[in-house]
Amino acid sequence: MSASDTRWASWPRSFEATPIDDNCSLCGAPTTLTYRDGWLFLSCTACEGFFGDREDFPPGTNIATTFDPGGAAGREPLEMLRAARLRAQWAFECSLEGVCNTCSGPIEARLDCCPDHASDGVCPTCERRKRAMAQFTCPVCKQHRECSPWGACLLHPAVVAFFYDRDVLLTHSPAGVGEPTRASR
Ligand SMILES: [Zn+2]
Ligand SMILES: [Zn+2]
Ligand SMILES: [Zn+2]
Repeated sequence: MSASDTRWASWPRSFEATPIDDNCSLCGAPTTLTYRDGWLFLSCTACEGFFGDREDFPPGTNIATTFDPGGAAGREPLEMLRAARLRAQWAFECSLEGVCNTCSGPIEARLDCCPDHASDGVCPTCERRKRAMAQFTCPVCKQHRECSPWGACLLHPAVVAFFYDRDVLLTHSPAGVGEPTRASR
């Protein structure tokens, strides 16, 4: 291994909840990032997040996504979050067009609605805040993704154009927090 390769040798395999400069989209409180077993979690420090108290997620989790160790090399936690959001956006774009981003298999998409949804906080039946979720499954490699219906709609050209006409860019901000950004044009 050459000297230039040394940073790849020090990939963080995991780290515990680390404060980052990104506020909770639900309550505005500070958030933390956790990386373990190839999963990246964005969690709120104050509220129960989108997923509530789930055994496999840190408390207050808002985002849970797989993230390869290679993406951690040479990146600060906030940069890892930006990279994860970019990859997720790309994966959803493929899924919406019916193509698995991992194996190119045919994606099966459906809209799941919780039959007994509790609208206050995280529902005990489906363990989510939203009654309806768009589900994308690949029958070949078994990859599964889900997002809220509005999350899927955000990628439609008509929606992107609607916000662009109102000086809001639906792109990832320079700070890397992935929220809609006011355009300076
Ligand atoms: Zn919160
Ligand atoms: Zn429910
Ligand atoms: Zn696949």
